[in-house]
Amino acid sequence: MKYETVIGLEVHAQVMTKTKIFCGCSTQFGSAPNSQVCPICLGLPGVLPVLNRDVLELGIRLGIATHCKVAPHSRFARKNYFYPDLPKGYQVSMFELPLTEHGYVEIFSDSGAEKGRKKIGLTRIHMEEDAGKNLHEGFETGSRVDLNRAGVPLLEIVSEPEISSGEEAVAYLKALRAILIYAGVSDADMEKGNFRCDANISIRPVGTSKLGTRSEIKNMNSFRYVQKAIQYEILRQEEVLEEGGRVVQETRLWDAKKGITRPMRSKEQAHDYRYFPEPDLVPLKIDEEWIARVAATLPEMPDAKRKRFVETYGLPAYDAAILTSSQALANFFEEAVSIFPKAKMVSNWVMGDLLRELNQENKEIEDALVTPKQLAAMLKLIEDGTISGKIAKTVFEEMVQSGKDPTVIVREKGLTQVNDAGALGQMIDEILEANPKEVAGYRGGKKKLMGFFVGQVMRQTGGKANPGKVNELLKEKLEK
Ligand code: ADP
Ligand code: MG
Ligand code: ZN
Repeated sequence: MKYETVIGLEVHAQVMTKTKIFCGCSTQFGSAPNSQVCPICLGLPGVLPVLNRDVLELGIRLGIATHCKVAPHSRFARKNYFYPDLPKGYQVSMFELPLTEHGYVEIFSDSGAEKGRKKIGLTRIHMEEDAGKNLHEGFETGSRVDLNRAGVPLLEIVSEPEISSGEEAVAYLKALRAILIYAGVSDADMEKGNFRCDANISIRPVGTSKLGTRSEIKNMNSFRYVQKAIQYEILRQEEVLEEGGRVVQETRLWDAKKGITRPMRSKEQAHDYRYFPEPDLVPLKIDEEWIARVAATLPEMPDAKRKRFVETYGLPAYDAAILTSSQALANFFEEAVSIFPKAKMVSNWVMGDLLRELNQENKEIEDALVTPKQLAAMLKLIEDGTISGKIAKTVFEEMVQSGKDPTVIVREKGLTQVNDAGALGQMIDEILEANPKEVAGYRGGKKKLMGFFVGQVMRQTGGKANPGKVNELLKEKLEK
């Protein structure tokens, strides 16, 4: 039988605030265990939480950025369960009245083409507090608990089950991550665990509409893992069904070392958590005016930027999609274009050489030594004939590595293009003299031999001859 895949994702993004959601403790990453705790986030008796207003504003911000409806009335709820990293015995989250609902994130196919566009619905986005962290390694006996993370603010973003492959899941996660960063809601740093994802996966016979039984893979913090885990899980479920078995609803863990998912526990149901309204926090009332005020401070979002790049710079959709995938990259591009206004040429260098060099060194655009100004200066050198396009590749490589100005590199290495008709003409005369057979061949009709002659000149000049000039001179001399 042929099956199709249905995926819904739950993303936890850490909100960018200095302090925790219900107390004044710092959210700083990497401090000594239990150095950022107080009676409130430790869950000691007799204390009351107070909502951090920044968390709420950033939640509203994300809601607007993802086309959600911000609820006029919402409310925190207690999610009750026992685990050593949760001293209160419950997590303050939101349940029947979440902060925002019914939004969407748009994804594109690899080519960035309009027809590959798809909206993935968002069920809801709500605020909640993070739990602590159990530490199991490095102790003679037992485990320890670090509660620095307890009470750190999170936004949980729940998608509709509308994602149909591992590739789409990754496209969705990348798009959502870009929105979080653009909107200044989260740094979404995956290595620090500030953007993590649970994947709910089921399959069903092609053409049917009833959802299959899902498994949920917990807490992945890399795009590659998400894709691999989904791939593995689809095959596993297909095998179960093909053998006449039934998929059981359960929570599974991705084992990166073995490249498999393993069962962790049978899936709990919402009623297992005994959700009830949080009595220690007031219900939230958010009016239109407040929403409008927050909306007015949102910067241009990736979607709008992508459209603008196509319209104002005449870029292909593919280029626009890549360039706007991060704000920093888009800024880099725009700054370079403002100095050297040939957009497609700038785009080619940014998407090609710049990203490739950065990738090789495992760097982000933010860490690039080369500046947009320097790229523009180099493109000017190509345009005015100072260097050839080929030499430019070498120059740029060094610019990325050293952060040096292109003019300095060209001067230091003597890479200036040879444009001098006299010098080139003499060199060409010598080459023609040394290769009489090829000259006769060319004059007899083998026009392809032009490439051979150009190659000879390039070799002798170390690639520095102006190819246009060389072609012109060769034609002149061969056809006279
Ligand atoms: P929880 O996991 O907390 O029980 P939900 O029931 O709301 O919460 O579902 C969470 C996620 O699972 C959502 O992203 C939803 O789209 C997805 N989901 C629900 N049912 C299925 C299914 N049968 N197949 C795939 N995804 C599903
Ligand atoms: Mg879940
Ligand atoms: Zn605290």
